[in-house]
Amino acid sequence: MAGVYVHIPFCKQKCHYCNFYSVVSVKYREPFLKALLFEIGQRKSYLNREKINTIYFGGGTPSLLGFEELISIIEKIKNSFHVDTAVEITLEANPDDLNANKLKRLKNETSVNRLSIGIQSFFDDDLHYLNRVHDAHQAYHSIELAKKQGFNNLTIDLIYGIPGLIRKKWIKNLEIFFSFNLPHLSSYSLTVEPKTALLTFIRQGKMENIDENKSIEHFKILMEKTTENGYIHYEISNFAKKGYYSKHNSLYWLGGHYIGFGPSAHSYNGVSRQWNVPNMKQYIEAEKTKKIIFDKEVLSKNQQYNEYVMTSLRTIWGCDPEHIQNVFGKFYEEYFSKIIFPFIEDEKVYRQGNHYFLTNKGKLFADGIASELFMDDE
Ligand code: SF4
Repeated sequence: MAGVYVHIPFCKQKCHYCNFYSVVSVKYREPFLKALLFEIGQRKSYLNREKINTIYFGGGTPSLLGFEELISIIEKIKNSFHVDTAVEITLEANPDDLNANKLKRLKNETSVNRLSIGIQSFFDDDLHYLNRVHDAHQAYHSIELAKKQGFNNLTIDLIYGIPGLIRKKWIKNLEIFFSFNLPHLSSYSLTVEPKTALLTFIRQGKMENIDENKSIEHFKILMEKTTENGYIHYEISNFAKKGYYSKHNSLYWLGGHYIGFGPSAHSYNGVSRQWNVPNMKQYIEAEKTKKIIFDKEVLSKNQQYNEYVMTSLRTIWGCDPEHIQNVFGKFYEEYFSKIIFPFIEDEKVYRQGNHYFLTNKGKLFADGIASELFMDDE
């Protein structure tokens, strides 16, 4: 099984913490769509007729797309690739873009069957700190409306570690989420990324900096409360009821192949990884020049091993030393088994059957543990 990712690089305004590629002007909307449809048709052999079981509209803000635009993109993908009849089609949406009529049309006129709503917080002051376009009322309302229109496969994003988000508020955010009885939650720690307004404002002393210890406390609460409420912590930032794991993200974590369309979108076919230039003007040009501009890297064996260790340890499926031996060789397996040992003694990793998993304590240090297990490229 393989996946298709479509990057819709438009936003109404830029959130302070965001470093994804997007533009706030809609003047390129029409040429962008033409270029996108051109790219989809142009690269139809990339996945070698592998069956597509997930299509994911990410951004940017895909909910800014009109129905005709959305339908034409899905049609083009279905005509160009071998798409499974049970394909999961996810659309990322911002609360302020969703109203009853739009959701009804989305449900009845398109084949989108999963919504991912960027809630981030149910409190206005947090949303203000993040510079989100929507307010807390729209956050609640969008979920209620989506449920009412029959979107059962519904997920939201929540951000923790925001300076104003005290413990009590974070618990309240989670309680509100549980009250909607949604099948899936993605929750991330606020991070200060390079080239973001947040970094600039913090450096200028205009905004409060984030506190690592607070994020750790919030993450512990998140793990505890989601477990209590029957969610499976199936990836470090993702929690789902049984049967509701994101097909798209699971594909990434399990090493599946995918093709990404749109500026800055990534693709991986098992041998190499490539990414389109994060530049709208250049992307649009492709339709005229008939040449898509991208960068490409062939992954070294060490990089492939590192990627496997990092992603597998973060998931419920764990890291399999037998897989390491079969794919990368005995040397890699021996290295992994030696380096992982102290983490077991430290109760950050445990072994069950043939696989290694992070304990809850280990999940707090996931990136650090993975990097210790990495193999350096010369
Ligand atoms: S977080 Fe989402 S909505 Fe906000 S600027 Fe980034 S892509 Fe746009």
